[in-house]
Amino acid sequence: MSSKDWIEKDYYATLGVQKSASSDEIKKAYRKLARESHPDHNPGDPKAEERFKAVSEAYAVLGDDVKRREYDEMRSLFGSGAFRRGARGAGQPGGGAPFDVSDLFGGAAGGDTRFGGGGFTDLFSSIFSGGGPGGPAARTRGPVRGRDIETEVVLDFDDAVRGVTLPLTLRAPGLCDTCHGDGAKPGTRPTVCPICQGTGMTTRDQGSFSFSEPCRVCQGVGTVVEEKCPECQGTGGVTKTRTLNVRFPAGVADGQRIRLAGRGEPGERGGPAGDLFVQVKVRPDDLFGRSGDDLTLTVPITFAEAVLGTNLRVPTFDGAVTLRVPPGTPSGRVLRARGKGVVRRDGRAGDLLVTLDVLVPATVSDEARAALESFAAQTPPAAREHLDARLRRVG
Ligand code: ZN
Ligand code: ZN
Repeated sequence: MSSKDWIEKDYYATLGVQKSASSDEIKKAYRKLARESHPDHNPGDPKAEERFKAVSEAYAVLGDDVKRREYDEMRSLFGSGAFRRGARGAGQPGGGAPFDVSDLFGGAAGGDTRFGGGGFTDLFSSIFSGGGPGGPAARTRGPVRGRDIETEVVLDFDDAVRGVTLPLTLRAPGLCDTCHGDGAKPGTRPTVCPICQGTGMTTRDQGSFSFSEPCRVCQGVGTVVEEKCPECQGTGGVTKTRTLNVRFPAGVADGQRIRLAGRGEPGERGGPAGDLFVQVKVRPDDLFGRSGDDLTLTVPITFAEAVLGTNLRVPTFDGAVTLRVPPGTPSGRVLRARGKGVVRRDGRAGDLLVTLDVLVPATVSDEARAALESFAAQTPPAAREHLDARLRRVG
């Protein structure tokens, strides 16, 4: 009994029972078929003998609860769509193999001389080249945690400051509901691939070497779909869309990655769902900037305002505030309006940081020029003595 047999043979079909059949139904079906095809009742009929052997082989597996469970599991991986999905998923970013198949072949592969010991698992590893973030859970045959999903959302500046709840539409690959992942039109079944005979691998000779590679006809699935499922075009997978309402807290920042536990892809075989990671981008505002929970604003003032001082009325995020610019304020000075920044849910608030930018007029009126010249005459030159030594050296 090799794993290849298990992948290839449909024991349920052999016994003519549903996959959901009870062990009693299986037993009954087997007894009936075994009786009909028994060599004693069909002397000299090789077809009946073949049939009898096939029925016995099928019952040896399906009649044993443990073997039947293993068989079902393997079939669900390879015979039907899961393998299809796995092979497809391997090429996707962050996809990788949903299962590590090597464990399934643990005992069976050794007996399969066709692939010589561990060769079988190696071949499958190469199909599942993605590797991916399966983690230790994916190495077991038990429940497998669903994959994490990454998505990106662009928030308006105001929404990021105030917080916002947005519907997030996620598109992720999922099992086709119409064919349950096997890719076959409802009422039909995938059939064993005629090229690789269900192994999913083909052997090619090149010079003195021969090497195996995934079958090109079935893409390593081992089965082919003659009548394709209209929903998924035979791939077994569809892009599923779901919408989540995601709450972005006040103060969410550009570049922040929000984790929503359990909102990723559903798990396999009862495993927990993966997580959803939302990468946040924030559109810039034409007035305010952000520095953590502080909002920033640059305000131009005249030289006279900087020298003489003034009261400055500036907008805040949701109002206005008057700031005192003291006489003799240098250009670049930052004034702080406390609590006028991002207000967190717990009440903590950032500040509004106002940077003063002293403007130099490009042109001035004659009167202003005269006044400035008078000002210059009464003002000592700027202190530049610290430059003199260096200037003397360069001549
Ligand atoms: Zn094939
Ligand atoms: Zn389908």
